Amino acid sequence: MGRGLVVVLLLGLGLAGCASTTPAPSPAQPVRQTAPGIGLSEAERRLAPVRARLEPVAERECRQRTRPGTDCDYAIGVDKRTNLPANAYQTVDRGGRPLIVFTAALIAQTRNADELAFVMGHEAAHHIAGHLTRAQQDALAGAVVGGILAGLAGANSQMIDLAMNLGADVGARSFSKEYELEADALGTVIAHRAGYQPVRGAEFFNRIPDPGDQFLGTHPPNAARMEIVRRTAAGL
Ligand SMILES: [Zn+2]
Repeated sequence: MGRGLVVVLLLGLGLAGCASTTPAPSPAQPVRQTAPGIGLSEAERRLAPVRARLEPVAERECRQRTRPGTDCDYAIGVDKRTNLPANAYQTVDRGGRPLIVFTAALIAQTRNADELAFVMGHEAAHHIAGHLTRAQQDALAGAVVGGILAGLAGANSQMIDLAMNLGADVGARSFSKEYELEADALGTVIAHRAGYQPVRGAEFFNRIPDPGDQFLGTHPPNAARMEIVRRTAAGL
């Protein structure tokens, strides 16, 4: 019942992209110019040199910053489905191995290796910071609070299920801006240590739709992201 729906929601969270350039639903969204598409082999060809330099750095940072036993053996690749919109995301496979996946459309939209390295560092940082696990815990905590509130109000069981789902959604989303900024800061460090320019790389944000400061929006405003990258880079 309610629990099943929450599990579905959590599975969705596990695959939530965070460098998506798919416009958020907003009436004031400007028309976006789309980059010309590239095939899978071209996407792999552009990704390979950045992966070769950044992956060892990300794995070293992961081992230094996480508790012993954490799987830091990243697998970084391109999603085989070339019709997907521009996106990048971090997830784990069934064995707990961290995966960083780019769609070909996102690789096509990056203008230089610094941008690709920044996105890669950002996704690697999500794993190091344990954001997937933390987001799932936030979702569960939100679901419990939502269910309790509905129970106190004398709701029937169907309404409690609904409230649990709403609660879970709020619990997960209200933390994700913090997580994104945290990943931007640590991603800056990783890109820098791999020999890339994170401030130049973060220029990528200036070309993706700005989610603004909408309540419950899952992504922080681009200006906030640029600021944390600049501040972090200045301290390196
Ligand atoms: Zn992210």
